[in-house]
Amino acid sequence: MNPNIVVIGSLNMDIVINVEEMPHEGQTILGTGFSEIAGGKGANQAVAIGKLQASVGMIGKVGADSYASALLDSLKESNVDARHILTSPNRTGVALVTVNQSGKNHIVVVPGANFDLTPDDIRNQRHVIEQCEMVVLQLEVPMETVNCALQLAKEAGKTTILNPAPAKIMEEEMLKNVDILIPNEHELSEISGMEIADERSLQEAARSLLAKGVKAVLVTLGDKGCCYVDKDRFQLYPAHQVKAKDTTAAGDSFIGGFTASYVKNRDIDMAVKQAQIVAAITVTRPGAQSSLPTLEEVQRFAV
Ligand code: ADP
Repeated sequence: MNPNIVVIGSLNMDIVINVEEMPHEGQTILGTGFSEIAGGKGANQAVAIGKLQASVGMIGKVGADSYASALLDSLKESNVDARHILTSPNRTGVALVTVNQSGKNHIVVVPGANFDLTPDDIRNQRHVIEQCEMVVLQLEVPMETVNCALQLAKEAGKTTILNPAPAKIMEEEMLKNVDILIPNEHELSEISGMEIADERSLQEAARSLLAKGVKAVLVTLGDKGCCYVDKDRFQLYPAHQVKAKDTTAAGDSFIGGFTASYVKNRDIDMAVKQAQIVAAITVTRPGAQSSLPTLEEVQRFAV
């Protein structure tokens, strides 16, 4: 059986080193901890959806190394169909993360195999897109690949969700194939080229993207929650009040929560409600995929 939701994007191994203070240039210091946590925006979003028991598969590329098998295992353990993950002779993507005592970090990402995912790879897996209902994308794989996937998905009449992260300028040609764009505040500002200082400028920036062909914009606002804008509506939703410990994957968990509900109910309010619960739980726990909640945890939070 083919999945209802297809996530097309990146898989990275996050190599996390804890330090008391960040090292200066040329300095060698002792770290206080080390962990390898499965990550990458695409894989995080797929795992978030899988843990909520929605039917999901992923298209992406890993290298032929031990990180690849760990990342594939993480997908499978979370009910993500990993049959469409391809292999490249390059290394699997990695993110080297150094975190100090006050939670500040330095991150270096080496995309590796993620940048080898080509438009032809997507065309060869066209049947997976044609048989699903919804396609979810980010910008951690080449832009031409995202563009090709959006085009194929729209030609096949599918709903498309794009998380424009990391932020990059996008052609109107590409934006017109996006049904729901989900940026954070910073990404919205970069993509629209507009400064966001208040509710009015937030709405203006989102509307400028509607004018370029995006059907709806859902902006995440960190601990302030999120806001939905389409041609008829502007709606703010406050976040849940929780004690945030680590906001890694907040946005990815939000997108997973939103998509898993939206594919079933096609109701924005219901989907945002689930997204904000999933994200609120995620920010109370450390790591990327390790912090994502199960459906049971989400249901318990909701009562
Ligand atoms: P990103 O991780 O992409 O920067 P945001 O920081 O905007 O994304 O967070 C995404 C979502 O996570 C928010 O819309 C909100 O629902 C939730 N969230 C983030 N930070 C907090 C927080 N401190 N308390 C409660 N919810 C939060």
